[in-house]
Amino acid sequence: MMTRSAGVLLLLLLGLCQAARHLPEEGNGVDIDNIDEINEIDDIPEDLEHDDSVDVTDSILSSNNGTEEILWEGDLVAPMTRNAMKCWNQQCQWSKKSNGVVEIPYTVSRDFTRGDTQKIERGMQGFHSSTCIRFVQRSNQRDFIAIVNKGGCYSSLGRTGGRQELSLKRGGCVFHGVIQHEINHALGFKHEQTRSDRDRYVRINFGNIDKAMTYNFDKADTNNLNTPYDYASVMHYGPRAFSVNGRDSITALQRGVSFGQRNGLSRMDINRINALYRC
Ligand SMILES: [Zn+2]
Repeated sequence: MMTRSAGVLLLLLLGLCQAARHLPEEGNGVDIDNIDEINEIDDIPEDLEHDDSVDVTDSILSSNNGTEEILWEGDLVAPMTRNAMKCWNQQCQWSKKSNGVVEIPYTVSRDFTRGDTQKIERGMQGFHSSTCIRFVQRSNQRDFIAIVNKGGCYSSLGRTGGRQELSLKRGGCVFHGVIQHEINHALGFKHEQTRSDRDRYVRINFGNIDKAMTYNFDKADTNNLNTPYDYASVMHYGPRAFSVNGRDSITALQRGVSFGQRNGLSRMDINRINALYRC
């Protein structure tokens, strides 16, 4: 988890970004070298799945412990530019071509092994099979996702413009569910438990969460795309996310549901991608 000073820094940053919101929004003038992200999905063969033994949240949060990035909600790169700020207001989708396909150029760092790269691409193929999203190797496109091996699992939210990094730390993040989770952020999706209506579905146990970390459970004015709350979403944090005492930080209000999965996109995650991008 993050340190207290990182928490304070985040709060400061939130203030700055609030101020930035009042600036005029025009998309250009972005530092192209400043940003990042990526995507992926289902049908995992046994051999790729067997080592994904930890839930997505646990992998992400433990891998991000100690990263120097400024992250919100555990794994979202804090917007540093006006253009990136727009993405937090859901105005940063990838564009659709006239043939109805949303092409997202990407690069994969040479830090990754062949096996890592196969897993990453396997994740992307899941999106291809169920949505109109198509990841294509970058040639010279301006906006693209650079998949890198940095200090954790994280992504920007939506298309930020220019090069945007999606980090999948080797050894901690190159798992099908984590890959798809981070890619889904890059498509513009936030965490399920920050949904505007989440209090009808889950209880957040603030007593079990470090006070400096409670901002990770702030509700957001999310676009829920007329879809129901989805405990099975790959974007839903696990029951002990940010817990300081090993007790649950999130409790489902419905009986018999589990959350904090590791398998990848849920049926509803897929429906939402198709709704957001009008596939
Ligand atoms: Zn996340």
